[in-house]
Amino acid sequence: MGRYTGPSCRLCRREGVKLFLKGLRCETAKCQIERRQRHLAPGMHGWRRPRRGEYLRRLREKQKVKRYYGVLERTFRRYFRLATKRPGDTGKALLELLERRLDNVVYKLNWAPSRKAARQLITHGHIRVNGRKVDVPSYITKVGDRISVKNRESSIKRVRQQLDSNPGFVTQSWLQLDRANLEATVVGVPSRDDVQIPVEEQLIVEICSR
Ligand code: SF4
Repeated sequence: MGRYTGPSCRLCRREGVKLFLKGLRCETAKCQIERRQRHLAPGMHGWRRPRRGEYLRRLREKQKVKRYYGVLERTFRRYFRLATKRPGDTGKALLELLERRLDNVVYKLNWAPSRKAARQLITHGHIRVNGRKVDVPSYITKVGDRISVKNRESSIKRVRQQLDSNPGFVTQSWLQLDRANLEATVVGVPSRDDVQIPVEEQLIVEICSR
């Protein structure tokens, strides 16, 4: 499984928007997008005026979504193929599939500070789906799935610490969290509004359909 191991803030600077890749730090003044002097594209030519063009606009939109969800090109193409087979708007179907990934669900339940941390929690075997261990972050959750934490002290402690660190966190409406038992149920499908960054999904469809 390939993954990006470079600096996370660099990705936000390239896209010019906050992608919330570093948990609580993204909410502080230390965020590089908030600090004006660092709000430049990465690399030695970052200060230059950005190039423009339709292809570039579409490419940046695709890269932004890939980086936000932490998926690489091949996986992204697979989601796109699945989305094209669904009835209705392909762009919305693509975003829905990405939102339903297990690492995103664990992050949206506030069991981990970021998607990266959620992926680690899953691959290290701390998460159960319908009572069975699932260590694949790309697992697509379905309505009715019960997500829980492994019944081991260290796993429970880790998730509780995260929940306590952010008590004001509001779970999205398609997820139902039982805080006391550290169990959640997928009660619906994510809507377009559940994507927390500005995305023009039509541009992604256009570039991926070429
Ligand atoms: Fe870094 Fe800010 Fe992006 Fe978070 S949102 S990864 S702090 S640049």
